[in-house]
Amino acid sequence: MSVDGQRPTRDVGLYTDGSNAIRPEVERVERGSEITGERTIRVDACVIGTGAGGAPVAKELAEGGMSVAMLEEGERFTTDDFNARPRDMMARLYRDAGQIATVGNVPVVLPLGRSVAGSTLINSGTCFRTPPPVLEMWGERFGLDGMSAAELDPYFRRVERIQNVVQVPAEYAGRNALVVKRGADALGWSGDFIYRNVRGCVGSGICTFGCPTSAKQHVGITYVPLAWNAGATTFTGCRARRLVTTGGRVRSVEASTAGGGRLRVDCDLVVVACGAIGTPLFLRAQDLRLDSNELGRNLSIHPATGVRAEFDEDINMAEGVPQSYFIDEFADEGIMFEGAAGPPDYAAMSFPFSGERHRDVMLRYRNQSQFGIMVSDTSRGSVARHASFVQIRYDLNSEDTATFKRAIERLCELYWAAGARAVYPPIEGIAELRDGDVSRIRDHDLDPRELTLLAFHPLGTARADARPGHGVVDGHLKVRGTENVYIADGSVVPSSLGVNPQITIMTLATRLAFHLLGAPAPDHEPEPEAIARPRITRPHALTA
Ligand SMILES: Cc1cc2nc3c(=O)[nH]c(=O)nc-3n(C[C@H](O)[C@H](O)[C@H](O)COP(=O)(O)OP(=O)(O)OC[C@H]3O[C@@H](n4cnc5c(N)ncnc54)[C@H](O)[C@@H]3O)c2cc1C
Ligand code: SF4
Repeated sequence: MSVDGQRPTRDVGLYTDGSNAIRPEVERVERGSEITGERTIRVDACVIGTGAGGAPVAKELAEGGMSVAMLEEGERFTTDDFNARPRDMMARLYRDAGQIATVGNVPVVLPLGRSVAGSTLINSGTCFRTPPPVLEMWGERFGLDGMSAAELDPYFRRVERIQNVVQVPAEYAGRNALVVKRGADALGWSGDFIYRNVRGCVGSGICTFGCPTSAKQHVGITYVPLAWNAGATTFTGCRARRLVTTGGRVRSVEASTAGGGRLRVDCDLVVVACGAIGTPLFLRAQDLRLDSNELGRNLSIHPATGVRAEFDEDINMAEGVPQSYFIDEFADEGIMFEGAAGPPDYAAMSFPFSGERHRDVMLRYRNQSQFGIMVSDTSRGSVARHASFVQIRYDLNSEDTATFKRAIERLCELYWAAGARAVYPPIEGIAELRDGDVSRIRDHDLDPRELTLLAFHPLGTARADARPGHGVVDGHLKVRGTENVYIADGSVVPSSLGVNPQITIMTLATRLAFHLLGAPAPDHEPEPEAIARPRITRPHALTA
């Protein structure tokens, strides 16, 4: 059991009640497609990017009395734009239709969002606080003061209240999770139902392709409307391109608009929140005297893969919350297992078979299960632009490769313990296991190139470090060498977390906003009933 206070309150109503959804009084959206000429506005703060980092900082600054403009390169999508078909939705909601991949010793598919709400629009809704040992390591290794679990607690609570973080009830978890839980229980492995940011979830199973009920509380339906209510405006289809600087201060942000025009935002304060891939690219294009060589380096991605298995019983991965259960038995080794179910067309894309074999497996879709593996990486990559070409370089090192091998072997063991008929590991050349066999994995000398990998959690490319010369931003997330530019997104997170990062990013963004407002930490946020804290007793992935 890895939840504070042993057994959390399993109030299904908290999870399924959608009646408390945040409603904007007015939708303050200006479309870049309608800005065809030159336009200039004046605000106190310009926030670039509206994802997990940008939206909270915009809302808090606006509520603190600042006039705020939010620039977003992508468009705004609502449930009217969703059709539940993964292929269509990837083309519409994902940056480059979800086809971004790293280059290196193994290609890693790296999906990113590009819309109001950023990657939170397409994420799975899994919520974990930053593990306290990781925060302690940040203090020791990067000199980051004021970021202990106790000091961040008021900000975590605030984020969890606004995002309505609640635990998935077993009846919504789906058979995929229950089958895996059965295997974990048989082996005595620690795990629990995941905490998620939802209001009114019906378990429709397509969180990453546009939640059809607006149950998933992506920041486009929480923080962004709250920012509008406080007077902020979102400019969609506006890609920030240039920071205009005079006398050492940034005076304006210039953006190109989807309508072919130009928006100029004169401001006193700039918060860059373009994500761990977008932020280093944006800042590298500016004429800034950065105080370190770390921009674009130190990329951690929390690489992931999945093991599939076939059962005699009916599972139907299309029903229930796709990511509803986690296993943290091996979290101290950097291994987290988390649900990775999906509808048939998603499964069809991910099964490593073709022709008759693929058809055969898909005909037995209702008997298939899939569960994810995430490895807290010690490998580090980089992001750079070469002419018009963006290169995300990442090589999986031997330590992480060995961790994947251990993780895959254990997840196969779990599937055997759960009663699987066949198991499909994600290793080229070992397509299928039968009769409880894991020796083919154990005896295999795994080459990273044989793995099928994805990654959903890029971090660290403008990392925070209190030591001058070591980080792109200081402990208050100010870009070193600038007077009024700050960063609020995954790029400042200085190490792999071992857990999904959205709550960490939102919390650091909230803390930044309070700092910019000169306000003390919020002290009236409610105590959560229970918060999932995986059994991480030491940080696994320390950067060099
Ligand atoms: C499929 C998927 C599933 C995931 N599941 C989970 C999960 O269950 N739990 C979890 O904790 N995390 C999950 N994540 C990760 C999480 O969503 C991200 O870590 C988080 O959203 C990153 O926040 P961010 O602010 O750094 O960037 P983003 O949320 O990606 O926001 C960046 C925004 O900046 C915009 N932008 C970029 N450049 C510019 C520019 N020049 N001008 C204007 N706008 C710009 C982008 O269009 C984008 O909207 C998932 C991610 C994906 C892709
Ligand atoms: S399971 Fe369905 S209703 Fe629940 S958050 Fe995901 S997409 Fe929305």
